[in-house]
Amino acid sequence: AFSHITGYSVDEMVGCSLHQLLADKTSRTFFNNCWHELDREGVWQGEILLQSKEGRKFPNQQNISVVKDNNGDIVHLISLFADISEQKRAADRLYRLAHFDDLTHLPNRTYLTEYLEKFAAACWGEDKQIGLLTLDLDHFKNINDSLGHPVGDAILLEVSKRFRTALKESDILIRVGGDGFAVLLEDVADSGYVAHVAASLMSTLVPVFWVEGLKLNVSVSIGICLSGQLEDDCSADEQLPATLIKHSEAAMYLAKEGGRNRYEFYTPELTDKALERVTLGVDLRQAIETEKGLEVWYQPQFLLATGDIFGVEALVRWRHPEQGLIPPDRFISLAEELGLIVALGKQVLKIACQDMVTWLQQGIALDTVAVNVSGHQIQSADFESTVYEVLNDSGLAAQHLQLEITESILMSSTDNVIAQMERLKAHGITMAIDDFGTGYSSLSYLKQLPLNKLKIDQSFVRGLPDDTNDGAIVKAIIVLSQTLNLDVIAEGIETESQQAYLQEAGCLQGQGYLKGRPMPAQALVSLLAQSQQWTKIQG
Ligand code: C2E
Ligand code: MG
Ligand code: MG
Repeated sequence: AFSHITGYSVDEMVGCSLHQLLADKTSRTFFNNCWHELDREGVWQGEILLQSKEGRKFPNQQNISVVKDNNGDIVHLISLFADISEQKRAADRLYRLAHFDDLTHLPNRTYLTEYLEKFAAACWGEDKQIGLLTLDLDHFKNINDSLGHPVGDAILLEVSKRFRTALKESDILIRVGGDGFAVLLEDVADSGYVAHVAASLMSTLVPVFWVEGLKLNVSVSIGICLSGQLEDDCSADEQLPATLIKHSEAAMYLAKEGGRNRYEFYTPELTDKALERVTLGVDLRQAIETEKGLEVWYQPQFLLATGDIFGVEALVRWRHPEQGLIPPDRFISLAEELGLIVALGKQVLKIACQDMVTWLQQGIALDTVAVNVSGHQIQSADFESTVYEVLNDSGLAAQHLQLEITESILMSSTDNVIAQMERLKAHGITMAIDDFGTGYSSLSYLKQLPLNKLKIDQSFVRGLPDDTNDGAIVKAIIVLSQTLNLDVIAEGIETESQQAYLQEAGCLQGQGYLKGRPMPAQALVSLLAQSQQWTKIQG
């Protein structure tokens, strides 16, 4: 076995010293220590690196014992050893699997937590301070959903390489999961330096990304927390890792709320904000469960040529007992997070259908009420049956109901969802694709979807008539809708000149503050009464 492992035959080794096998021949002190211990204890155990005759270096577990004669003098040393390279490799592999990310080969969240635990135990409370930056790519889900995971992965890889260029060798870049990264800065003197690092990280993403012939913009939101900020918050060392991570994440959310593509530092008031979100969630759950507090407002949709209102979009509002009226941007994502969105969506659908029935019975000539549907809703197993049930209970004919689904959700839909939409459409319900132009649609895919209408996103209308890019996009969407034989409506029309531009470009329908803001049902009825529309019918 000895010859097999080392490559030396017995003849070659007899009379030789073990030194001949050492891979690192310079470690004299190591050997001296070994001798001392053998003298004292009579045994020595340890790991040393050996080298075979062919030059293969291998770690081995060595057990050396002394053999003494009757006088107590050492006459022999017996050395047993085992080549442990296989075990080492397996252990390394396990460590890598557990501590590094497959895609980017960066350390992962486990690595981060273990690092922070070590830091907390060893250095915290001394002058040494570390900084943790939590990074989250902006709107990355859109890219992943609409362009697919291979493209998403390619971008993540490129992003990780670019981040690295903004860092010193001792700074640790971590992929915490999905589109989330973290950076650990050791020995941070002041927050100015950390801000500088955050800005450098952001600037690495400024040059556009090219993936599979597509030009993409990527940006990142960053939250920062320094260990020195936590002295009051963590009484025990063990709390440091979780607190540091939590606080830098809270700061990251603040950066997102502040408009993304920016960095924010953790401040104690931030936790109050997080707390506020939690209590808001509790209130929202109550509002939905008791069916008290949600209101549905309506915004007119009209023909650009005549101003005639042909339909309305239902937009949910929440009347909070203390905070007053809350817009959907503040609670839709919360409802999604808390698993309340399906129930919320059903209530909105119910109210909108009931209101529409009432108006039709009053003789108001409206073609459609458009209701927004969230991704979670449409993916829920009973979405289709819920829609039929609500139509049935309210007595609204299917052709008066339109469902608005945002582009990014549609592009990531499964065959099941599409099949369900086809059945709903066959039932007489119409489908509009909301916020069109923001979700990287594949045009060939678009052709296959059961759609009736494109809604041009308001971000493109905003720049009209002066912004030539917006103008070009708007015109292209209008031509696209004509080619695909779909209706097209422009959202967010605020000025006469925007309306004129859209009309000129061939868009027939519009919606926006110019004609009317979202309003409660009674206000809509008065507006319709003012227009000849209603009197015409009543007359
Ligand atoms: P959306 O479906 O794209 O609705 C249009 C949003 O643009 C509405 O905001 C509307 O008030 C606003 N808007 C309309 N005209 C103009 C204009 O001329 N200028 C400007 N600046 N804004 C205009 P709102 O009501 O705050 O709703 C925001 C989003 O919340 C909606 O965007 C929709 O995605 C979501 N939402 C609203 N109600 C529901 C709902 O019942 N269920 C679901 N899942 N989402 C909803
Ligand atoms: Mg909408
Ligand atoms: Mg929209």
